[in-house]
Amino acid sequence: MPQEKSERPDILSRNAGNGFSLEDERRTCSWPSVLSEWFLKNARKLPWRENTDPYRVLVAELMLQQTRIETVIPYYLQFMKDYPTAKALAEAPMEEVLKHWEGLGYYSRARNLKKAASLINEANEAGKYPLSAGFPDTWEAIKGLPGVGEYTASAVGAISFSLPAPAVDGNVMRVVSRLYGLWGDVLDPKNRKAVTGLLEAVFPKQTPGAFVQGLMELGELICLPKSPKCQACPIQEACLAFEKGWTEALPVRIPKQKRTTRKMAVVLLRRQDGALLIAKREESGVLGGLWELPNVPLQEGWESALEEKYGIRVTVLDKIKDAKHVFTHMTWMMEVWRAETPDGAASSGMEEGQSAAPGEDSQRIRFASKGELEEEIMLPTAFKKLLPDD
Ligand code: SF4
Repeated sequence: MPQEKSERPDILSRNAGNGFSLEDERRTCSWPSVLSEWFLKNARKLPWRENTDPYRVLVAELMLQQTRIETVIPYYLQFMKDYPTAKALAEAPMEEVLKHWEGLGYYSRARNLKKAASLINEANEAGKYPLSAGFPDTWEAIKGLPGVGEYTASAVGAISFSLPAPAVDGNVMRVVSRLYGLWGDVLDPKNRKAVTGLLEAVFPKQTPGAFVQGLMELGELICLPKSPKCQACPIQEACLAFEKGWTEALPVRIPKQKRTTRKMAVVLLRRQDGALLIAKREESGVLGGLWELPNVPLQEGWESALEEKYGIRVTVLDKIKDAKHVFTHMTWMMEVWRAETPDGAASSGMEEGQSAAPGEDSQRIRFASKGELEEEIMLPTAFKKLLPDD
């Protein structure tokens, strides 16, 4: 039975901001080499694993993006037969290359691959990177090739150039989350960065390619999203999720919340000297306890709702503009209106900090001058951007 969240160690939060302090010796020391050995003995025979030629690895990695291994194999074999080197691909007509890609989809991958081949070919002819026939041999330079992201740069770097570069995708996030008992959202880029840091810290320098591919292979064959095959797992002994019974609960994926829209009328109620009416928001909810410009939900009769909410009589004059403010989970669509009070209270001489209506709490509603709004009063950006320029 999975334990309560409060009992679960959370490496991500435990070491927030400082990367991972690798506290569990058993978990951190041996599993990378055990996994590498397991991969070297048990790796599936796949055509791109025949050797570590970076061009061959790059073609495979680009073909495998968003495409299943079984689908890729026949395409890869034909592609490598017709374009065995970057030079051959660079010199082929684009139409012909796209034809080879027909059925794989996402044709931008083929276009990028051909562009990358041209750059590698040019580098080779210029005598750059002589040991790898013009293929860039640092992580940054590989990442600079068209169509190559962090994952692909790390895969090529580790497999072909023995760079200590962990390639982290969804599969690897799942494996590492279970292995270390990480309860952070695997969809959060900050957690992906943290996991990359963790893997860099335990990266086995002797077997970079086997380690990177071992993690991929484990995620594809053993540490499955549902019902992981823990009994066949080479690193079961090191796995915290297995030990604690968390394998079904991990990894944590928090789907992005749908953003809601709130339509509102916002009022610029100015006094003759230019001071604006502001009010304190309720303590709870969005921007709780901060100052706001008077506002109410935009619906029929919103003017009366405004009077009721702030305890002040208001005559709405004209609409100044529409504005929008986007929060993480909510968007405000605002109509901004100019207003005054019928008895001239907008210019009635009510002092700063003084109540706008009899009996009103002066801490909740007040007039504020331009200077105060600029220097003293913390008005949230959503409202600040609605202030008049003059
Ligand atoms: Fe995944 Fe199970 Fe292996 Fe842990 S023991 S890494 S949950 S397959």
